[in-house]
Amino acid sequence: MSLDNFQICDRDLDDDTLTRYLQAEAIAVDTETMGLVLGRDRLCLVQLCDLQGYVTAIQINKGQTEAPNLQKLLEAENITKVFHFARFDVAQFRYTFGIETKPIFCTKIASKLARTYTSNHGLKNLVMELERVELDKSSQSSDWGNAENLSPQQLSYAANDVRYLIGVRAKLTAMLKREGRWELAQQCFDCIPVFVSLDILSYENVFEH
Ligand code: MN
Repeated sequence: MSLDNFQICDRDLDDDTLTRYLQAEAIAVDTETMGLVLGRDRLCLVQLCDLQGYVTAIQINKGQTEAPNLQKLLEAENITKVFHFARFDVAQFRYTFGIETKPIFCTKIASKLARTYTSNHGLKNLVMELERVELDKSSQSSDWGNAENLSPQQLSYAANDVRYLIGVRAKLTAMLKREGRWELAQQCFDCIPVFVSLDILSYENVFEH
């Protein structure tokens, strides 16, 4: 369990880290929440990681409705925000803070388009195959609401969820380009804000027959 290159921020990114992250071409992003139901289950933690592997975990307070530095980063047009299952996290940011995250790269969508030889598109599987690292997901279902008292195991888990995303993105991008699916992938990423709008209004699937 390594917590190198890792810091915790209270409520928002500090100015120095914002300046650092604004230099990046891409930033990996993940969130931890009280559960999977948007609107019921609040946002607890936001994890960020740059190409050098510098991880920040931002503790979000109950009832908090803004995070101006995080907003500047997530809305910066020249920095790609890399998620695994972006639809969930982007909805959290819009619902909690009114943030319009862009531009987006989703490793789950990229994996589904590129890795058609498997039906395993979970982060653990992706990181194992592409980065040769075994993720410990044992803290996935735990109480993230007690922000000041997160355990070293929880913090390590939270950091690892963003630490490998940039490398995974590079490998999936190469596969998508090789297979002629890069443009389709970008079109899918551009649709994510529409899916978020539908999710916030609780529509099931308006594209089905
Ligand atoms: Mn996570």
